[in-house]
Amino acid sequence: MKKIIFITILIIVLIFVIFLFTQNNKKEENIDSKYTIVTSFYPIYIMALNVTDGANNVEVLNMADTNVGCLHDYTLTTTDMRKIENADIFIQNGLGLENFIDKLLNTYNNLKIVDTSANISEKIEDDGSVNPHLWTSIDNNIKQVQEISNALIENNPANSEIYKNNTEAYIDKLENIKENYKNKLQELNGKKVVCLNEAFEYLAKDIGLDLITIETDHNESTLSADKLKDVINTMKEENINNIIVDINDNLQNAETIANETGAQIYRLNSAMTGEIDKDSYINIINENLQILEQIK
Ligand SMILES: [Zn+2]
Repeated sequence: MKKIIFITILIIVLIFVIFLFTQNNKKEENIDSKYTIVTSFYPIYIMALNVTDGANNVEVLNMADTNVGCLHDYTLTTTDMRKIENADIFIQNGLGLENFIDKLLNTYNNLKIVDTSANISEKIEDDGSVNPHLWTSIDNNIKQVQEISNALIENNPANSEIYKNNTEAYIDKLENIKENYKNKLQELNGKKVVCLNEAFEYLAKDIGLDLITIETDHNESTLSADKLKDVINTMKEENINNIIVDINDNLQNAETIANETGAQIYRLNSAMTGEIDKDSYINIINENLQILEQIK
């Protein structure tokens, strides 16, 4: 009798162990079946969040920390590589901003890479190198979102309807704000402004600002005294009264110039860093509009 009880208990335990084992396997299968999207950095991440909102079994990871800022000279970390190792698709800004892309392709030969700059024909060149900060232009941003959407519809068709609807709705919002820019900033067309951050060149082009950009590589504290003097002279000669900087830039040089010329400083947001919120870019460009409206 004892033997029978023992065998019964053994069978129950075995069944339980087998049950646990199969459940565990199922879990792993679920993780594996997730469609993993990795974006290179913040502006691209916000675009992807909008396109994929509510999509099933999709995970969107941002490679660089949101506070990294621009990706020039970025070095991949082991955490980055781990994220990309499991990615089904990697979405980059393009135009050479992700200088590590060859390394990625060499390491992960099968990694699908989306270049959001693929459909943008009007590129700004500074001294022979292409300015990669496309997303500050609403027009370009729309094209980048469209590029992401097309790639996801093709590569993750299970969610194609969701991607299509999200993209339409998001682009509608962006088009509306673009229209506001057009209506409210007409007076800025052709206006000369000095800018200490090259990220705004594409935004300025949208508005028609005649931007005198001082190349700082997002590091305006490196501006030489001679260069500063040049800028101040140009502003005096051409009667330029406005300076644009990024909200995260050090203000020291802008203040020096302002003190010498009496110019006004306007702090725009280049949307390179920010909150993890799909509406972040929309909020930023609305705030920028309010600041741009103050330029006289
Ligand atoms: Zn940059």
